[in-house]
Amino acid sequence: MKPLEGKCALIVGVANERSLAWAIAQHLHKDGAKLAFTYWGEKMEKRVRPLAESLGAEVIEDLDIANEEQLTKVFNKIESKWGALDIVIHSVAFANREDLEGRFIQTSREGFRLALDVSAYSLIPLSKHAEPLMKNGGTILTLSYEGATRVVPNYNVMGVAKAALEATVRYLAYDLGPQKIRVNAISAGPVKTLAAAGIRDFRTMLSKAEEKTPLKENISAEDVGALATFLCGPGGVHITGANMFVDSGAHIM
Ligand code: NAD
Repeated sequence: MKPLEGKCALIVGVANERSLAWAIAQHLHKDGAKLAFTYWGEKMEKRVRPLAESLGAEVIEDLDIANEEQLTKVFNKIESKWGALDIVIHSVAFANREDLEGRFIQTSREGFRLALDVSAYSLIPLSKHAEPLMKNGGTILTLSYEGATRVVPNYNVMGVAKAALEATVRYLAYDLGPQKIRVNAISAGPVKTLAAAGIRDFRTMLSKAEEKTPLKENISAEDVGALATFLCGPGGVHITGANMFVDSGAHIM
């Protein structure tokens, strides 16, 4: 039997085949999980629907993660389809382009609010909706980056959002622990994705990362998928509130 046979997983954050969430979805599928996907608006649907269908997705729904009504709709769909949920992947981040370059001190109040709402706060309502469906425990997983604890030029407001996200993981892990719901973050090294393209000088970030890591090579989305399935499977059963690095060791430097 596959390690995740019979488990139901909701994947939030696939934009295209480069998305970290897509690599995670492929790994969960390989390990036997049934999948539900959301896409962010009609524009994304064109890309996401065929990908989701290729893995036999049982639910494919529109979701702006800041929209409470849509969140309720997604979870109602999951409840009527599966009656339960075991895994939630939160792989979502957004900030205005002008807040991902130049001086952090210029961050506007609205830009700060938007980045933190979409990239950090959203894990709370997502977990709140998942909790009643995770009757036999479960795993909630989000994606972070080293810019949460160190200054990475141009990462700016997203670094603050990731710091809030990592703290959110710990508080949720405490709240949901008694129900055997585990909440963790994966802190990934840089990978060329759509979201990454929004960060000024991302290419430099990528090449610098390669130089400075102990392993002297960048990671791939595949590495993130492999760690995610490990955390969702039997190996992760006593891991919660953690921020696990898959960054070729960059965080120790
Ligand atoms: P991506 O662009 O493929 O994924 C980001 C996703 O966020 C997209 O699917 C987009 O549709 C979604 N999104 C943005 N605003 C949304 C909203 N309001 N409602 C619903 N969905 C919304 O890029 P990615 O690199 O795979 O990013 C996934 C996660 O991984 C992000 O949290 C990102 O910060 C994190 N991360 C990425 C890297 C990297 O180098 N790529 C490194 C560490 C962490």
